[in-house]
Order: sequence, then C-alpha cells, then structure tokens
Amino acid sequence: MKPPVTNLSKRVFKLESELAFDYLKVAEEVAAHGVKVISFGIGQPDFKTPEPIKEAAFEALKAGHTGYTATPGIPALRSAIAEHVSSFTGSDVKADEVIVTTGSKPAIYFSMMSFVEEGDEVVIPDPGYPTYESVVRYAGGIPVFLHLREEDDFRMTPESVEKAVTPKTKMIVLNSPENPTGGVNLGKDVEGILDIARRKRIIVLTDEIYDHYLYEGEHVSALSDNPDWRENIIYVNGFSKTYSMTGWRLGYAVARKEVIDRFDLMASNTTSCANNFVQHAGIAALTMPQNFFKEILSEYRKRRDCIYDGLNRISGIKVNKPRGSFYIFPNVEKLLKEKGLTASEFTMAILRERGVVTLPGTPAFSPSAGKDYLRLSYALPIEKIEEGLRRIGE
Ligand code: PMP
Repeated sequence: MKPPVTNLSKRVFKLESELAFDYLKVAEEVAAHGVKVISFGIGQPDFKTPEPIKEAAFEALKAGHTGYTATPGIPALRSAIAEHVSSFTGSDVKADEVIVTTGSKPAIYFSMMSFVEEGDEVVIPDPGYPTYESVVRYAGGIPVFLHLREEDDFRMTPESVEKAVTPKTKMIVLNSPENPTGGVNLGKDVEGILDIARRKRIIVLTDEIYDHYLYEGEHVSALSDNPDWRENIIYVNGFSKTYSMTGWRLGYAVARKEVIDRFDLMASNTTSCANNFVQHAGIAALTMPQNFFKEILSEYRKRRDCIYDGLNRISGIKVNKPRGSFYIFPNVEKLLKEKGLTASEFTMAILRERGVVTLPGTPAFSPSAGKDYLRLSYALPIEKIEEGLRRIGE
C-alpha cells in the first residue's frame, strides 16, 4: 500500500506530550461512571485570576485593543516586566531585553530552537518538566539527564553538574523551585552552577516560573547579583502560576538584546504576538499590589503541610518536605514492591478503583529516575486533599 501523501516528517515524531493530559482523559471516563474524581494531576492553580487583572482585560477590550501588537509585546508591558524582573532579582534588565510570549512554554521552545544544534548536549533536571526533553530532541540535541536525588532534597548541585557536562554541552536547564519534585536550589548551588557554566562557556536556561511558591528559605534567581548575566543566561518566567493565569497564555523571556531579536523572528513566524488585551491585563498584574499573593502562599503552605503529613502516615510511603512549587514527590518503592506494581500501574489502579489522579514519576517526568515515585499537585482545597489521601490510604 502506498504511504499517505500526508506522511509526517521524522522530526515531528520526536515531540512528546505531557502524560498529565492522558490521565485527564481517563479521569473523565471514571467521572462519567458517577465517581467524584479528586485530581492531584495537573499543575494548575485553583485560585481565580485576581479581579484587577480581569478588569484590565475588560477595559482593554472595550478600548478596542484587539489588533496585532508589536511582535515582542507592547512597550508598556515589556517595560513593566523589565522593572519587575530587575526589582525581583536585583539585576538590571532593560525593556528591549524582554520578549512577551504566549505562556512561558514558547519562551522555552524559542530558547532551545535558537541555540541547540544537531548533536549538542543539554543538561536537564531529572526528574523534570517533560517539555525540556521533548524540545531538546526536536531541536536535534541530546538530553543529558541530571539525576536530582532524594538525599539532596532534589536540589541540582554543582558537583552533579560538573560530572554531567562534557565538551559537547551547549546548555544547562535550571528549574527552581522544581516541577515535579518541589526541590529548591540553594544560593550556593546556583552560584556553583553559574560558575561552571561561565568557565565552560555554557548557556544557562533558567525556568523560574515557580519563583513565588517558596515555603522556606529564599529564591535565588540565576539573575540575582549577576551583573554579567547577559553573557550566558536566558531567563524564562510567566503569569500562569503566580497570577493564576494558565489559560490566558502569557509569559516572557529575558536575554541580551541580540538574542531577543532572534526570538522576535521565531514569534513573528509562529504566534505573531501575545493577545493584545491579555498583555494589558499583564501590566495590571505586575503593577497591582503584590501582597495578594501572601494569603495565597499561606494557603499553599497549609496544603503542603497537610499533604506531607498525610502521605507520611500511609504505610509504605516516605516523602521529603518540599520547599517550593506546589508539587510533592513521594517515594513509594516499598509499596510498589509489596504490590508487585510499576508506578504507572499503581497510579492507574488508584485512578480506576478510587477515582484519585496522581502521576507516575516514570514515565511522566523521567525515563527511569522516577520509577519509585509519584507526583502529586496540591493545587486543591484542604478538604479535597484529605479526601484524596484517605482514598489513597485505602
Ligand atoms: N515550566 C514549568 C516548570 C512548568 O511546570 C510549566 C507549566 N506546567 C511551564 C513552564 C509552562 O507554563 P506556561 O506555558 O503556562 O507559562
């Protein structure tokens, strides 16, 4: 038989999706049987987008801000982002060193597609956010999985980075606070990794989307006290998590101007620009009083403590207390051994039999380092967390 005319390129088969979406489908089937599903699956804040942000979007729509904007974003938003990042990290960032993107995902994609050449190695956190591996492969690069160890509280340490880099390393991806482990790199980790990268002339792509979700210690950005950041740092952040704006699709990248000008061309050939009125809402997000997040963070801290205590009480589960993000990554090795199940089989069993969505560390976030782990997102009310834990316990 002749192959279809719409025969897909080899390249496109290198892309992978997030397993969380597959579990969502199964959860819908389970719910269709009348089960009240509790989802620790998807990484999405359950809080509403703050009112002033919504108001700004309505106002912008009414004022007719519905056409294309300049590709890298409206000047007022680029300036607001530059100011926000400068004051949050302590590094001086200018408006023309910012590109506004439709969520932070395209910023990751543009970064990898702009730098990674065939055969280049990219060091990525393992377990880690699946988009990193997928896009590195799509770009023709080779992901080098840097094992984040439970014993290290899932930090990325300079010692482990030193071992992972080779003459072929083009880029190191930092993600702190981390998805899926909740690990947070300490100041000395960031400093040490930046020192290696600078010495060996390696690009650092730093994804700091969970920077506000920190329960202990302080967030040390790769831009913090780093006057030479333009040499090798690409900084990615967005509005999805801090402002509960996942569906609005608004994010950004910060890099030296010449890099941003290339990203501009990538956006120009794909997305054109972020939504006009959403960009106006973005300005409102960055300029409204930021103390709204204090209350939200305190709620997340309660949730973290609740899920941490609850998981630890279940026989066969042991878990580190996560210091950041809204994920927890329990070790279920003993339980899996007792039951003779893989993490995938176990998560599917508790979804089908008890209506609770959790994700398997492997394959969702790692080819092998997550095989004894689950990821739970605790972006849901305490009552639901307690009910979910009760069902997992059963
Ligand atoms: N980076 C990390 C580590 C994430 O967990 C996510 C979302 N789950 C993203 C980036 C993408 O977020 P968005 O595109 O909504 O800004």
